[in-house]
Formats: sequence, structure tokens, C-alpha cells
Amino acid sequence: SGKWEKAIEILKEFEEKCATPTGKLRQVADAMTVEMHAGLASEGGSKLKMLISYVDNLPTGDEQGLFYALDLGGTNFRVMRVQLGGKEKRIFKHEVKEVSIPKHVMAGSSSDALFDFIATALVKFVATEGEDFHLPPGRQRELGFTFSFPVKQMSIASGTLIKWTKGFSIEDAVGKDVVGELIKAMERVGLDVRVSALVNDTVGTLAGGRYNNPDVVAAVILGTGTNAAYVERAHAIPKWHGLLPKSGEMVINMEWGNFRSSHLPVTEYDQSLDVESLNTGEQIYEKLISGMYLGDILRRVLCRMAEEASLFGDCIPPKLKTPFILMTPDMAAMHHDKSADLKVVGNKLKDILEVPNSTLKMRKIIVELCDIITSRGARLSAAGIVGILKKLGRDTLKDGEKQRSVVAVDGALFEHYTEFRNCLEGTIKELLGDAVDSIVVEQANDGSGVGAALLAASHSQYV
Ligand code: ADP
Ligand code: MG
Repeated sequence: SGKWEKAIEILKEFEEKCATPTGKLRQVADAMTVEMHAGLASEGGSKLKMLISYVDNLPTGDEQGLFYALDLGGTNFRVMRVQLGGKEKRIFKHEVKEVSIPKHVMAGSSSDALFDFIATALVKFVATEGEDFHLPPGRQRELGFTFSFPVKQMSIASGTLIKWTKGFSIEDAVGKDVVGELIKAMERVGLDVRVSALVNDTVGTLAGGRYNNPDVVAAVILGTGTNAAYVERAHAIPKWHGLLPKSGEMVINMEWGNFRSSHLPVTEYDQSLDVESLNTGEQIYEKLISGMYLGDILRRVLCRMAEEASLFGDCIPPKLKTPFILMTPDMAAMHHDKSADLKVVGNKLKDILEVPNSTLKMRKIIVELCDIITSRGARLSAAGIVGILKKLGRDTLKDGEKQRSVVAVDGALFEHYTEFRNCLEGTIKELLGDAVDSIVVEQANDGSGVGAALLAASHSQYV
């Protein structure tokens, strides 16, 4: 019937608009490299902020002692402590507690409310420290603070919030030193802990990755949002007017989520998602790639199919109108459905959208949409990674020699969305050809928190 033809027409049009052929990905990778140069050249020189992290040394393995970490950057907030035992014992104790952040604290509250919430969770966690953790007598506890939003750092342990992303919106915190805000909140709850390092999750992941593998040169986050960090040569940062670090290196937090290029395949659905978001016109690359948004892109295409092709019958399922009702983990579950009758898809439609009777034809269209959206996101992330490798001169063989380069990737999207991950890895091969044998994309488990603790150790007041 005409209904199916119309649905297929919408599907095909969407597929064309989302297409990322190899040539286009090369253009995206090249544009990423160009923007990296521009962002390093001058403040405000690019959509890519290329933020200086003040991390000029990555962990060596010698780090020792008890350190805490706070990880704030998505839907969950985590506190952890690690006992580091140097080269021999490594990380020999590691405890984590995860706390979900109430919606009303994430958006529309105040800086005090957010940091009181964090300090309260931290003070409770510190109180549960067992005897198997050792703090030498007379020493102050120290922590690394992973804060995964764009921050203009003034030093390794201070920095002002440039803007919120990923659904956070607390107006009075913008422009404030987030470490100062944390310290004040800790004082309010009577907690005495020194903040030794303020790091982005990408920088934490890079530090944690390097601790495990000396070949790690870059880190990428694929979770609620997306971002990347890498090790740059200090003299290749024209906008850096400070002293050159002894190591000759500086970790750069790219804030690549804000990357934008005419080569990005942006559809009408992406445009409406952007217009209705809390940060319109910003984080365009992130909105094509990351976990916060993929499910909602799917919902938007389904909405159009419901309206114009009566995909779900004569009435439009009212739930389909609710922003973010389709979450990326549900989308992954549907995409991964291997049953002949696509049972999982049927159940998701019933449970989430209250569509009780779906046909196999309908379910197949949904799986195809998942594939289009996720492939685009994964392929664009692969192009971004290749852009970084190009900037580092590591995208080709050097005199026929293989220089090993490892990219540490963290985030639940990469970890749990198998189709996304496979597609990303396949696309890196597609783009790099022969050089690919020496390039490894490695899952970094819990890198950002551990990395922050390691950086707190190397910036401890006692070393
Ligand atoms: P964050 O980025 O907030 O630090 P995570 O790395 O845990 O946190 O990423 C969380 C995001 O990952 C969620 O918003 C969700 O979109 C996505 N995600 C979580 N689980 C899955 C899953 N099973 N399949 C696909 N995406 C997932
Ligand atoms: Mg995280």
C-alpha cells in the first residue's frame, strides 16, 4: 500500500542524507586536523577550543599512596578511592560509588546546590574508608576532580567553567572556578580534602591509559557526550605563552564535541534536535555522535513516519512526542536483536511507545534506522580519530616503519553498543589502510576516574 511506499521513501531519503562515504570521511578528518591547528594558534581561533590542560607529564607507574577522585560529567556522578603501590603493586585497592544526579540539580538549580550535592556524597564516601587504605599520619587527603565540561584552566588545580553541555544548565556556575566552588562546598559540610588536580574526563582517560600502556597517545570519550584529548608538542602550541614544560609536551583537551564542518551530514532531524536543545548551535558533532542524542534522532524520524506514512496506524502514538523517551541503550537493544521476529524491537515498541501490535515489516524499518544513525555516528568518530592521528603524523608508516599508536576510548556507548564499536573500528581500517596494523583502539575501563587519582598523586603536595 501507499503507506509502506511513503515510509520507505522517508527511510531512503534519510539514508542518503546521512551517508558518509570514504571520501567524505577523509574531508572530515582533514577538516578536524585544520581546526586543531587553528585552535592551537590563537584563543578563539576555531570552534575547537583546544584547551591547555596543564598536564605536562603523564603517569609513570611510580605513583604511590591513597588518593580520591570525583567524576562529574554525565548522568551519574562517581566518587572513588585508590591505593597506589608504585611499579610493583600498581593499583592494589580501588573502590567506587556511583550516585545519580537528580534532574532538578542538573538543570535550573544553583552552583551551591550542585556542589553541596557533590560534597555531601563525598563526605559520606570518605567516612566509609576501611583500614585497608593507608594515609600516613598527619597527611591531608587529596583528590583529583574529573569535571567533563569545557573549562579554561588557570593551573593544574583551578579553572573556570566556559559553558555547560550534555543537558546540564546551572547559570550561576558559568565563569566560576569549579575547584573554588567545590572547596567552599566541602567547607560547608566539614570535609578536609585537598583538590590536587582538575581534569577533563578525556585527560583522565589519557592518563589512565598511559599508566597501563606507554603507547597511548590520545583518548576519546564516547558516552553521554563525546570529546578527545591528546599529547601535543609544547612548541606546536603558538597560543601558549607560558614557560615551556620540561617534558616538552602538553596534554590538550580538544573539546571536539563542538567541531563543525560543512562536510558533516546534518539532516532536518538533527536541525530540529539542535533547535530544541539546551545549547542550540553548539556541540554539533556531539549531537551526531553521542549517547545522549542517538535515541532521540531515531524518535524524530519515527515521528515523521508516524505522521506522514501512518507507520503505526491511524493514530500517532502519543509517547512518540516525548523528547528523549527513546534512549540510546534501548536503541542498541533493538539494533542488536537477532531473533527472527525481532521480538526485542516489538517489546521496546510496546513498553516505551505503547504500540501494542507491531508488524515485522515495521520492526525491520526500525532496525534499519538504528543502523543508519549509529553508522553515521561511529564513522564520524572514526574520522575524528584519524584527524588526530594525522595531526600527530601517525596516520602513515614512517619510512616503512610502524610506529605504534594506541587510542584509549572510554564511555558506555563504545563499551556497550557493539554495532557502534564494530563500525568505528572497521572505519578506522578503511581510512588508514596499511598503517592500520600499528594503530590500536583500546577500551579504557574507568580510565577517567583512575586517571584523575593518578594525576592527583603526581601533583600531590607531598611529592
Ligand atoms: P558519561 O558519559 O555520562 O560519563 P557513560 O560513559 O556511562 O557516562 O555513558 C553513558 C551514556 O552511554 C548514556 O547516556 C547512554 O546514552 C550510553 N549508553 C549506556 N549504556 C548503553 C548501552 N547498553 N548501549 C548503548 N548506549 C549506552
Ligand atoms: Mg564518564
